[in-house]
Amino acid sequence: MPDHRIYPPTSVNYTLAAKYLRQGKLVSFPTETVYGLGANACDDRAVAEIFAAKDRPRFNPLIVHVPSLEMAEKYAYLDFTSRQLAEKFWPGPFTLVLNKKPDGELSDLVSAGLDTVAIRLPRHSVAQQLLRQFGGPIAAPSANRSGRVSPTTAKHVEEELDDRVAMILDGGPCDEGIESTIVQVSGQEVRLLRPGSVSPREIEMVAGLPVKAVTAADTPTAPGQLKSHYAPRAKLRLNATHVLPDEALLAFGRNIPHTAGPDTAGAVRNLSPSGSLKEAAANLFAMLRELDSMNVETIAVSPIPSQGLGLAINDRLQRAAAPRPENTPAGDKAS
Ligand code: AMP
Ligand code: MG
Repeated sequence: MPDHRIYPPTSVNYTLAAKYLRQGKLVSFPTETVYGLGANACDDRAVAEIFAAKDRPRFNPLIVHVPSLEMAEKYAYLDFTSRQLAEKFWPGPFTLVLNKKPDGELSDLVSAGLDTVAIRLPRHSVAQQLLRQFGGPIAAPSANRSGRVSPTTAKHVEEELDDRVAMILDGGPCDEGIESTIVQVSGQEVRLLRPGSVSPREIEMVAGLPVKAVTAADTPTAPGQLKSHYAPRAKLRLNATHVLPDEALLAFGRNIPHTAGPDTAGAVRNLSPSGSLKEAAANLFAMLRELDSMNVETIAVSPIPSQGLGLAINDRLQRAAAPRPENTPAGDKAS
């Protein structure tokens, strides 16, 4: 059967989809905007699969979908205005960027190492049913390869992703076909990070605060372009084949260089001893943070092959290693 990955939304298939998500597999599902490519948002490995399936050349933060406001609160703080907006526009094509709770179990990769996370409660009944059945947060960007148009039917998804997705739940064509509005409440204004079908005027009416469209120069299409993006305090020295006595080491693969003086004993993490780029992607942000918290001046980073997910890993490491002027111009497009 040619459509073997496309499943109708029956109760048996929701159960199967939730099982796949728990196993770290990818499930595509419809929302009222576009079809999403979903993974367990608490599972770094599963989230790494999303980037691999999409061939995304960089780790931009993903939107986390939740079945309820209560679940949003489990993972993030809702200030007064964010809560008003959530109560008005959820469920719907509306995404709030919120401060992450530090003890939450969300994957670091899902928000690309940022301290904030984008959360949405979708309106589409198939998305809601899947979220309830899974009972946890689902990270989901659009279910297309990087740089291609977002899919609005199950068939599009199959054409884009084929065997990169375990299952596609078919909810018919999406109503809106444009992505969700993304906002972040910041002091006495609401920053419009991405326009969408909820308009600035509607947002102003609810928030009672001005909506400020964020200009291209600070559009956070990638975390490297956000002022608040996660940057280690330590310097990074990339493609290191040896380690100096006072350096920490972020290694990759089997043949790791000899470390290190007594100063940095223990300051070694291996992104993937077996040389798996998926494992390395899953570990990247947590390991960078761990090494950074050890107060070393420099972290030596082993060479990482520039293919597949290695492209996104190297992109992120290069951004972290580069000197950072306060206002880096944006040059990215979302994928
Ligand atoms: P997509 O998943 O393709 O719909 O894109 C997600 C959008 O949300 C991208 O434009 C991201 O930059 C934006 N986004 C996700 N998380 C954050 C965050 N923590 N801060 C700012 N923007 C975010
Ligand atoms: Mg997209």
